Amino acid sequence: MNLRCLFGKHEWSGCKCWTCGKIRGTEHNWSGCKCYRCGTIRDEGHDWAENCESCSRCPATRKAAHKWHGCKCTACKKTRDEQHIWSGCKCSTCGKTRDEEHSWSGCKCSTCEKKRDEEHNWSRDCGRCARCGKMRKDAHTWNGPRCSVCARTTADARVDETIDQLSEIDTQLGGVLMIMDLARYGEGEALRGTAKSLLLQYTAFRALLSAAGTPEATAALAVHNLALKYLESSQIQL
Ligand SMILES: [Zn+2]
Ligand SMILES: [Zn+2]
Ligand SMILES: [Zn+2]
Ligand SMILES: [Zn+2]
Ligand SMILES: [Zn+2]
Ligand SMILES: [Zn+2]
Ligand SMILES: [Zn+2]
Ligand SMILES: [Zn+2]
Repeated sequence: MNLRCLFGKHEWSGCKCWTCGKIRGTEHNWSGCKCYRCGTIRDEGHDWAENCESCSRCPATRKAAHKWHGCKCTACKKTRDEQHIWSGCKCSTCGKTRDEEHSWSGCKCSTCEKKRDEEHNWSRDCGRCARCGKMRKDAHTWNGPRCSVCARTTADARVDETIDQLSEIDTQLGGVLMIMDLARYGEGEALRGTAKSLLLQYTAFRALLSAAGTPEATAALAVHNLALKYLESSQIQL
């Protein structure tokens, strides 16, 4: 220790001796409620900007300080799960949704995306709802190779069936193929990138299918090839 400090002649820089590091209880350098030299805390100058009831610099708290407007504090933007300002099924302030007053557009709520099992849209495909993707069996009215109600062909129906079977064996691949199939109808464009990366991980799966040689494996391989063809014909480069 410095001899001067030993005799009590510290070299104070604010509250701290810059030679020996000793702290004295005066001359703090306050930054709000905290001395930035020694870390001492005082009960003034707290920072409530991030949270009206808890200081962001020290452990100080205070009660009933939020300025609530419904579920949100107008001062610190904190939210609470009460007094929401509902606009249909969604709170216009915090975005929370509730299972009431949905804005049904057929089978799907256009506000919160909730689905219901009524008023499906079978116009594009009798077997799959264009809005929510729900499937139903034996729905087409075959007139030769085409359905006389929707635009699907018997070949499409075979693809649907295979995707169904595949989904039971392998949920991920089934899902990818379904997205690819929807992409063919101009749907699922946003999901195409995801589908692509997932599908490309299936090289090993392909090899397995080729080796298996069962009718299911052959069908799966055919759908996989079809999916790859959609990808190749899409804007996204493989
Ligand atoms: Zn000192
Ligand atoms: Zn200090
Ligand atoms: Zn504080
Ligand atoms: Zn607040
Ligand atoms: Zn709310
Ligand atoms: Zn809703
Ligand atoms: Zn639907
Ligand atoms: Zn049909």
